[in-house]
Amino acid sequence: MLEEVIRSKARKLLEEKRVDLIIGWSEGTVSLKTAPKLCRKPEDADQLVWNPLCSVNLARYLKYYKKSPEKIAVLAKACDARAILVLLKEEQISRDRLVILGLPCLGLLNPDRVAEALPGARSRDLEWKVGKLLYRGQPCDTSLLMEETCRRCRHHNPPLADEVIGEPVGEPGYLHDDYLERYNRMDPGEREAFFNEEMTRCIRCYACRNACPLCYCQECFVESTRPLWVTPAPTPFDNLLFQVARSMHMVGRCVECGACERACPVKIPIALFPIKVEEIVQVEYSFEAGLSEESAAPLLTYRENDPEDFIK
Ligand code: SF4
Ligand code: SF4
Ligand code: SF4
Repeated sequence: MLEEVIRSKARKLLEEKRVDLIIGWSEGTVSLKTAPKLCRKPEDADQLVWNPLCSVNLARYLKYYKKSPEKIAVLAKACDARAILVLLKEEQISRDRLVILGLPCLGLLNPDRVAEALPGARSRDLEWKVGKLLYRGQPCDTSLLMEETCRRCRHHNPPLADEVIGEPVGEPGYLHDDYLERYNRMDPGEREAFFNEEMTRCIRCYACRNACPLCYCQECFVESTRPLWVTPAPTPFDNLLFQVARSMHMVGRCVECGACERACPVKIPIALFPIKVEEIVQVEYSFEAGLSEESAAPLLTYRENDPEDFIK
């Protein structure tokens, strides 16, 4: 089982003191949830897990070690590895202190959908094997269980890794009628009504921002009091302002991992904002974040002699 391979590699890395810390996932305390796990001792590696509920994007934890001299190994699904690549390009972590253990990934399952479809299921009952989802060893229909962001994922293999654990996976061919496609079929009035309705439910807890591997500003604009960009009270208008501004800050950076919406306590499909923006970036600039170490992100580059025709 792949989980055993991961544990054994992690144990060895710590035993041989090739790294000081390993960031992975362990069983959570809540059913069908996993939790981030920081391993510092070889025996900690025995608690690592790898299953279709390892939903936290672990690249999110690297910001805490930006100035640390420690060498860190991190388990990385394809979208975690993409986020690491963006962080490297933005000089938020140095490559020589990182060991990236890449994990080809066929997708995450939505815990609520699993609980409904498979009562009594635990995360350890579910695994991907040879391109199929197995539940207690038996093939299982994925179509209704997948997270929306994974239904539309086009990059299942880590674009950057020191070692890949497991075989590369091919295009799984999911039913691609995901929420972005449904949103794109709405007319402008329906889109406005959809987001307005969702923003009435937002309690502005900032869990979405905090779960995002690429939101790392020391002071977020929403917490600034001079100037006061948004009121602290979660009014629908200010909630919308927060999400629109956050999406603008993600242009050409969002890796479409969905970690933000999985963190939302009121289940707003909030990744749809930055994902819609990324769709525009792909069309306009033929660019996707976190796929190449070389290509420059739109809006993060400029030319001094840019004619800026669009301003006229
Ligand atoms: S977005 Fe892609 S790489 Fe990320 S968890 Fe989903 S399927 Fe895996
Ligand atoms: S996690 Fe959900 S409720 Fe909290 S600020 Fe984000 S969208 Fe609003
Ligand atoms: S905005 Fe959401 S989907 Fe995009 S990188 Fe951040 S957590 Fe992932």
